[in-house]
Amino acid sequence: MITMKNSEPIGMIDIPQFNSWDQFETNREKADKNNKDHCPCCGKQIDNPKYFINTIYGGLMYPAIDKNVYPDAWVMGVGSECRKKLPKEYVFNVE
Ligand SMILES: [Zn+2]
Repeated sequence: MITMKNSEPIGMIDIPQFNSWDQFETNREKADKNNKDHCPCCGKQIDNPKYFINTIYGGLMYPAIDKNVYPDAWVMGVGSECRKKLPKEYVFNVE
């Protein structure tokens, strides 16, 4: 019997956008200039990320409980305000 490993996470959803595209880009450019990461929901600079989401394919996220390794997936920090608006099963924190 062969067990097939899922090659994609279960429960992928779009990363919600809390700003207009223009506002997002303005924020993101500012963060880039400072060599800082930006929040994928609003584009704002994140200095000390404490909350994170699993992202995949550049625009989707999947539940925090899923610790498998997928191609095209990476962890991104989210802003402390935005994380409150995200479904809590998608957010994890690191002390
Ligand atoms: Zn944000």
